[in-house]
Amino acid sequence: PAKTMDELVSLCKRRGFIFQGSEIYGGMQGAYDYGPLGVELKNNIKAAWWRSMVYERDDVEGLDAAIIQNKHVYKYSGHEDTFTDPMVDCHECKSRMRADHMKDIKVCDNCGSTNVTEPRDFNLMFKTNVGPMVDEESYTYLRPETAQGIFTNFKNVVDSTSRALPFGIAQIGKSFRNEITPRNFIFRVREFEQMELEFFCKPGEDEKWHDFWVNTRKQWWLDQGLAEENIQFEYVTGDDLSHYSKSTVDILYKFPHGFEELEGVANRTDYDLGSHTKAQDEFGISAKVKKNEHSTAKLAIRDLEANKWEVPFCIEPSAGLDRGLLAIMTEAYTEEELENGSTRTVLKFKPHLAPIKVAIMPLKKNKPEIVALAKELKNKLQKLGLGRILYENTGNVGKGYRRHDEVGTPICVTVDFDSIEQEGAPVTVRDRDTMEQIVVNAADLPAYVVNYFIN
Ligand code: ATP
Repeated sequence: PAKTMDELVSLCKRRGFIFQGSEIYGGMQGAYDYGPLGVELKNNIKAAWWRSMVYERDDVEGLDAAIIQNKHVYKYSGHEDTFTDPMVDCHECKSRMRADHMKDIKVCDNCGSTNVTEPRDFNLMFKTNVGPMVDEESYTYLRPETAQGIFTNFKNVVDSTSRALPFGIAQIGKSFRNEITPRNFIFRVREFEQMELEFFCKPGEDEKWHDFWVNTRKQWWLDQGLAEENIQFEYVTGDDLSHYSKSTVDILYKFPHGFEELEGVANRTDYDLGSHTKAQDEFGISAKVKKNEHSTAKLAIRDLEANKWEVPFCIEPSAGLDRGLLAIMTEAYTEEELENGSTRTVLKFKPHLAPIKVAIMPLKKNKPEIVALAKELKNKLQKLGLGRILYENTGNVGKGYRRHDEVGTPICVTVDFDSIEQEGAPVTVRDRDTMEQIVVNAADLPAYVVNYFIN
């Protein structure tokens, strides 16, 4: 794994994974742009999450709700009142910082002075104006989590799919938080993506499902290549619990800056549906909710056995995509000493996550038959739907191997003179991890590649 953030930051920029946002204007704190390989990696992580959370289960439906929502969503979700971090100001150097790591003695992160203010609450939501008229009522917020769109669509999904408990709704999308101190590359940013599942169950079955999701999510991260020894659980208690949570287990990963939260798995009880439902008095809601005077829908489900309507409990595994990508990159980063004394940098991604699946390189740039066969193979492999297959005609295979090691391409295929002269059109297939090369006939290449990526 990577030992320092710097080596990751530099590889990410050099090879086109991640760039500082608005770089040509001096940057924008807490915002990053994903480059040609970063967008592929991100898409592959999202696809793996969706596959495991939606397609491989038959009790979860997908959703893609709007980012801009009615401001009442954040009034009743509790975010308007309580989605804050404690902040202090330094009188000496005038910087502002998050204060939740400060105990009794408060010291400025920046200059070390103890001449700082008492902590005060800072709301992390970005406020924005909607429509051409700017007045007291025209504001809303950018969503600070994707979850609320799931709760507000609960009835729509139940009515359109006839779901009964237990079942879940999954969503991937952008969230925004005006973090007081964004830091550690893409670990803490102001614009990020979340992959969230809200899993609804009967009250009383919530703790069982909470355990289930903590373990299921840990296994998913292992399947993405994270090593068991780099994952820990942290049981969140007392004041550290969010306003909606009965209990939360954070899944931590050993980032270059230490063990930190990768995903939170929260038991949100009946708080959210209870807050957003109309006719709250009818349901015996257990959570402490704000009295709702605006909702037009009952967010409850019929319990056929007990013959009554009830507001389900909800378990939420909420993973950060950017943090996930950082964890996967950290883990994949490998520096290897070679026999000839040189070192190579390899990103040992699991094949399904690799931004480029196969690179096809003609040995000779200007030999038409070689180029034609290489292009034909690219088109054939691309049709398999495995992801990006790159045809790359630089004429320098050795350099190509090094570059593809560094971006984690699992397979490089070289088309050479033998390929156009010998029967069966043999091509050379080189493996990223072992660096071994084998010869495969062109007609067998699609089957070889499918077998490699599917198994
Ligand atoms: P933290 O304590 O690190 O601020 P949190 O507990 O506020 O995180 P949650 O509200 O549980 O985070 O959000 C769920 C997930 O969303 C987190 O586990 C993380 O992966 C991701 N996430 C939250 N805030 C950020 C951020 N500012 N930048 C990147 N990812 C984030």
